[in-house]
Amino acid sequence: MGDQSNESSAACFEESLVKMPTIKFTKLFINGEFVDSVSGNTFETIAPSTGEVITRVAEGDKEDVDLAVKAARAAFDHGPWPRFSGAKRGAIMLKFADLVDEHNEELAKLDTVDAGKLFSFGKAFDIPQVAQSLRYYAGAADKIHGDVLKMSREFQGYTLLEPIGVVGHIIPWNFPSILMFAKVAPSLAAGCTMVVKPAEQSPLSALYYAHLAKLAGVPDGVLNVINGYGETAGAAITHHMDIDKVSFTGSTEIGREVMRAAANSNLKAVSLELGGKSPMLIFDDADVDMAVELALFGILFNKGEACVASSRVFVQEGIYDELVKKLKEKAKDWTVGDPFDPNVRQGPQVDKTQFEKILSYIEHGKRQGATLLTGGKPVGNKGYYIEPTVFTDVKDDMLIATDEIFGPVMSLMKFKTVEEGIERANKTKYGLAAGIITKNIDVANTVSRSIRAGTIWINCYMAIENDVPFGGYKMSGFGRDFGLQGLHKYLHTKSVITPIYNSPWL
Ligand code: ADP
Repeated sequence: MGDQSNESSAACFEESLVKMPTIKFTKLFINGEFVDSVSGNTFETIAPSTGEVITRVAEGDKEDVDLAVKAARAAFDHGPWPRFSGAKRGAIMLKFADLVDEHNEELAKLDTVDAGKLFSFGKAFDIPQVAQSLRYYAGAADKIHGDVLKMSREFQGYTLLEPIGVVGHIIPWNFPSILMFAKVAPSLAAGCTMVVKPAEQSPLSALYYAHLAKLAGVPDGVLNVINGYGETAGAAITHHMDIDKVSFTGSTEIGREVMRAAANSNLKAVSLELGGKSPMLIFDDADVDMAVELALFGILFNKGEACVASSRVFVQEGIYDELVKKLKEKAKDWTVGDPFDPNVRQGPQVDKTQFEKILSYIEHGKRQGATLLTGGKPVGNKGYYIEPTVFTDVKDDMLIATDEIFGPVMSLMKFKTVEEGIERANKTKYGLAAGIITKNIDVANTVSRSIRAGTIWINCYMAIENDVPFGGYKMSGFGRDFGLQGLHKYLHTKSVITPIYNSPWL
């Protein structure tokens, strides 16, 4: 197979980062082969823990996307994948899942070195979640069927569910593995073929997955990976005339671009999972210690680089003072440092741009009159680390309360009544998720039905599972990943109608 090794470029880096993984794959993956880009260009991928170059990766552009789409189109129109029985696709996906499990450590290392994610968490959560996604949708692959239609006249009708065709998957950098397979696993099960564009900040693990897909028996051309920049390789996908659907996860700003590109090209179907500014509402009857843990976890998990981060925490006035005191204490235990260290809870932000953006929001918060309860500064003098940061006295219209910061920055706000909490929680252009912390079932029921968001967590946060549809209301996007809705977005419904024997139509 078109295997490749690039161990030498990683070697120079090994001295500065002890746990540097061996980088085996850096080229584009097209039609089952690792190949250089047409231009021969490459780009650096940087380790956020040090700011140093990990390796150079082939830089795809329009010509490379064209080649990948050609391969995916041929695999869709003439290849075996869409024609296999669902059971056969499922069997290959199960083998793929086993290979992901076997290579758990290497994959987790790649996301840690590339995106600054915690290695311990990657091994225990991100990579196992990839295998689980493959297994979940492998189990669905042989259960894709339509309906028998009840017709009022002398006809009979049924629906066929058919794979939508060639899909472009555009992936962000905060969960390079999980979000890739939230899209790849269901579209494989559906019988689609695809071009995956990972984020330029985290290009490495997708190539390793492509290698494993081939080993598992996914036919050539079904899964192609093109690394490159958003405005070049990404835009070539969204504008392509021969891609049937784009599934995008990323910022709201680029979500608009994706829709515009689809409208200006072939009207391809689009699903968008975009930004958020999720509220967590903590009511007077809550267990304060649990609320503190959940509030910190909700914003600091994955260093705040989560679209569902609970960045606006509304606390009812009766427990506000106690909660603020305990939160300040607990935030000190949240260790920031080397993402390979098992005792560390927060690694570096993904890159310099993100690091500077977060620090500038912190400055805005201070300038606009919010009080810094804890944190607010960079950590160390190498890499992109930021202290867990909590602001109090935040007003709903301050920038830190309206904008998605995508970093470890919490805005704490006080509220009086359930109605006020609901109204202020909903005062956002986003609608991805919300948290409710209460022991009162009536409050939980009322608030969960009143918040306009795609996921509501009651007395928990960020519980994301394969069977649970995930996506946004309002400007957090549309379409759902995960669950059977996550499969059906890669299927067309075709209606087939025929007159019944002896009907007057014959
Ligand atoms: P973030 O702001 O979190 O980096 P983006 O929305 O910019 O999120 O990026 C998410 C994904 O979208 C990445 O893979 C990126 O390369 C891609 N992307 C960025 N700009 C475009 C674009 N104009 N067209 C298509 N994809 C893009």
